[in-house]
Amino acid sequence: MSISFPENFKEHLETTILNWDDFTESHNQEIPVSIRINSSKLNENLLVENVVSWNEKGRYLKQRPDFTLDPLFHAGTYYAQEASSMSIEAVLDQYLEKENNPVILDLCAAPGGKSTLIADWLNNNGLLVSNEVIKSRAGVLSESLTRWGAPNTVVSSNDPLQLGKLNGFFDCILVDAPCSGSGMFRKDRNAMQHWSEQAVSHCAARQERIIEDIWPALKPNGILIYSTCSYSEAENENIAKFIMQEYDAEPLSIQKLDEIEGVFKSEVGYRFYPHLIKGEGFYLVAFRKNPSHKLTKLDQVKIDVKKSNPFAELIQLASSYKLIGSHLGNSIVTEIMLPHLYTLHKYLHILKSGVNAGELKGNNVIPNHELALSTIIHPDLPSIHLDLNLALRFLKKEALPNTFNANGWNLMKYQNVNFAWGNALQNRINNGLPKSWRILKEID
Ligand code: SAM
Repeated sequence: MSISFPENFKEHLETTILNWDDFTESHNQEIPVSIRINSSKLNENLLVENVVSWNEKGRYLKQRPDFTLDPLFHAGTYYAQEASSMSIEAVLDQYLEKENNPVILDLCAAPGGKSTLIADWLNNNGLLVSNEVIKSRAGVLSESLTRWGAPNTVVSSNDPLQLGKLNGFFDCILVDAPCSGSGMFRKDRNAMQHWSEQAVSHCAARQERIIEDIWPALKPNGILIYSTCSYSEAENENIAKFIMQEYDAEPLSIQKLDEIEGVFKSEVGYRFYPHLIKGEGFYLVAFRKNPSHKLTKLDQVKIDVKKSNPFAELIQLASSYKLIGSHLGNSIVTEIMLPHLYTLHKYLHILKSGVNAGELKGNNVIPNHELALSTIIHPDLPSIHLDLNLALRFLKKEALPNTFNANGWNLMKYQNVNFAWGNALQNRINNGLPKSWRILKEID
């Protein structure tokens, strides 16, 4: 079906989109499907073809699989992400040193695509605070990060003004701003119904407000990454110019993107167009904050750091992690993130902090689903390997007969990757998958 854009859309973008016919035609072509590999769970060298040119962990797929019916998706071995969005990694690579343990905020993070990218890039160093203000979307974000399994992450649900009180706290802030969404029209034609010039102005005003609210939380010399999936100048270059004027910040050049044919360098920042590259519409710009920012002292809260860790046997290199107790139960956190938690737990509404390890019932450990999916889980725990059909039945939360001669808590694996816990009794394997995680779709 050939595309028919909303009223005034062409006039609105005429000066921005140079070849309107090619642009329109790209909306009638097949949409590229891409995933980004979780390098802590899947060897990226196993999939060597169709690499996204600006992200070596990105892969184009030949066709769109049914992700719901792939246990490897539920195991967090990859994230289905449109390719242009993967370009933020180029900024991290060029302007941050993961060995310096940066503290990174993903301010507008749900459903979690860019957060999983940042978690992968950090590779257990530093800390990612992944935030989503809309409560109903924050749960999905938490699930994405649980699947991804990185221990050095915190999920919060606060508005930017509250996060802005964390004065000078973050080495890097990503603002992947809520926008009018024109860059996604090819993927989501329904989004066109909500587009209007008025909606663009409304989004631009909100984007300025978000930047104003969050700017104090960036450290002197810290990096701000601003992105949208809109084509409108008002939401892109004009916001970048607002940042330059308001905060005396210079936009940064991104070497990798400069070198890629098809990535369009605009007056300020970088644009991705579906007729020029294999991906959807996207805008990206990065800044370094002026060093003259005055820091204020932040308050802290006490955290119950346990002296001993009854979950230690379930964890690889257990001595390099700490067990903390909070309103979230028992969480395993990295030593590096712990000092930051004293501040974060004081200021933010936290939904997830590290990896929920589970509960203690007397001397018995009841492991949490988060631990099964985490990258800190011990590789030599008892496990049960399932084929596709049994794995999907388990993901539908069926109990399976114990034909495995198994006993007690076992990691359920598909193609050697953990996706849940099962508790093996004499005749059956009880299903440890949280009810809200079960797949509802019929399996053949
Ligand atoms: N970064 C996400 C990813 O890669 O999966 C996509 C984020 S989406 C473009 C923008 C997010 O901003 C949405 O989840 C939306 O709920 C959130 N949002 C909406 N209004 C907001 C506001 N006033 N301040 C901060 N975030 C907001």
